[in-house]
Formats: sequence, structure tokens, C-alpha cells
Amino acid sequence: MENRNDEVVCLFQDKVSELLLKHRSVLDSLSKFTESATRINRAVSKAVTGCGCISINAKKQQFPAEASLEDCRKYMDSHLEGFLCESCRERIEEEIGNQLFYLSALCHLLDFKLEDIMRKEYGKLKALGFFHLS
Ligand SMILES: [Zn+2]
Repeated sequence: MENRNDEVVCLFQDKVSELLLKHRSVLDSLSKFTESATRINRAVSKAVTGCGCISINAKKQQFPAEASLEDCRKYMDSHLEGFLCESCRERIEEEIGNQLFYLSALCHLLDFKLEDIMRKEYGKLKALGFFHLS
């Protein structure tokens, strides 16, 4: 399973690099990357304020002072209520896909392999566990 996922990341980056002719400049990819992140935020906001399928009920996170780091997880709240409808889910998924495209483009232009970065980060998560959270 892990190998198949690695393969998809690698194939995805290869395909992005093939299609990159239109966005060859790193400056263009950087601005598109930032723009796509903003569009994800916008799509989530629209799910709340436009559609209403989800809502945000945010307040200060509270947990007992004596709770261990692992136990704190039980008390953490996402501040989300409801579930994404099909339409909002599709929209957000599309924007996340665009973000992945431009992330892959940046990796290609700067000579990184997204697969290697993901493998390295996965190793850090496994090694550091809860201490990786920031
Ligand atoms: Zn919705």
C-alpha cells in the first residue's frame, strides 16, 4: 500500500512537470500556489457562509491542567459542526487538487521530489509522534 501511494506521488509530479509549459516561471508557480491556498480558504468559508452545510463554533481549547499530551487530544475541538454537502466537498477537493498541482510544480522547478519530502516527513511523524505537533 505504501509503495502504491509513493508511486502515485511520483507519477503525479512527473505529469505536472510535463504540463508545466504554461507556468514555467517559478514566480508564476509561487503566486499560483499562494492563490490556490487562498481558494481553499474561500471554498471552506463559502461552505459555512454560502451553503451552510457546515458551521464554525470556535472557542478557546480547554483541557485539564494535569492531562498528559496524549490525553489532550481527547479534549481538542475542531470547532466544526455539520458535514460537507456533496457540492461543497467537490469544490474543496478541486481546490486542494489545484494546490497539489502547484506544490508539485514548485518541487519540480526547485529540483525536489515531493515523494522524498513526504517520506522524510512521515519518518519525522513516526519518530516524534505527539511532539511533532505545533
Ligand atoms: Zn455545502
